[in-house]
Amino acid sequence: MEVITISPRGYCYGVVDAMTLVRRIAADPDTPRPIHVLGMLVHNRQVTEAFADIGVICLDKPGATRVELLDQVESGTVVFTAHGIAPEVRLKALARGLHVEDATCPDVAHTHGLIEKHVQNGGSVIYVGISGHPEPEGACGVAPGAVHLVSCLEEVASLPEFKCPVLVTNQTTMSQWDIKPIINAIKERFPSAWVQTEICLATQVRQEAVAEQAGKADLLVVVGDERSNNSRRLAEVGVEIVGVPVMQVASVADIDPSRLPVDGRVAVTSGASTPTAVTREVITYLKRYDGQQKPPEFSTAVGNRVLPSLPRKRRTGGSTS
Ligand code: SF4
Repeated sequence: MEVITISPRGYCYGVVDAMTLVRRIAADPDTPRPIHVLGMLVHNRQVTEAFADIGVICLDKPGATRVELLDQVESGTVVFTAHGIAPEVRLKALARGLHVEDATCPDVAHTHGLIEKHVQNGGSVIYVGISGHPEPEGACGVAPGAVHLVSCLEEVASLPEFKCPVLVTNQTTMSQWDIKPIINAIKERFPSAWVQTEICLATQVRQEAVAEQAGKADLLVVVGDERSNNSRRLAEVGVEIVGVPVMQVASVADIDPSRLPVDGRVAVTSGASTPTAVTREVITYLKRYDGQQKPPEFSTAVGNRVLPSLPRKRRTGGSTS
């Protein structure tokens, strides 16, 4: 079976920076304990478990807001994830005397800045994103009441009439093909709206790589947790734009061999929150597959193998001569 490794794929700068920050503070004895992350630092189980092993607790409860998760933190350090955070949550954490570390991705912070400035100037915002995902929760929380979340085409009709300037923007991990019809419908209803699309570069190049490179494959394997929005969007690009069957797996253990085209081609990509070691295991299995081997029951990409390494400490001290 031929394996096409789609490039670029996998970890993005925002995720690597967030994980490096958390690894660094976990290694620092001066960081107030316990260390809690509000939500999953990245939507990946192996990474969450690897952080638990070094004393970092990722608080996660499906459907819970960041404020609700914060209510579980009584002392120590609280970390905000790369998805960004509503100002209300930051203020509550500080008021409670917690030590705060912020891993918000600069691309998400850029969207927050746009929203804040537009609302301060008297405008309203239409934000295209996934309801219930932490990134829209943070973005809508930048200006509660002035930001209107739209998750699908049908919701455009139920937007109110606006008497002020309207900014249209979006969640960074959406796909350009997803948001285009929604933004077109918004423009039709509000012709004077100012559209500022905010799909981040990491998301965009990974999606375009799938669109360009998966066409020759009989199957596209997307390595990414089912809760990872950008992984789901990669799968969607495969099905809807390329027209190729897709298998999304969290790790090698999830591969269904009955769907593998033994004499064909498989393309592989991975989400921005998928550890490189997890994707490498999948690629190795696929390259060796001859129609017989079952996938391993467990992924061995765990612990330090899924965490970024810490920069080495510089040597200090003077000359020894
Ligand atoms: S997917 Fe984009 S916005 Fe999200 S963390 Fe990565 S670079 Fe930042």
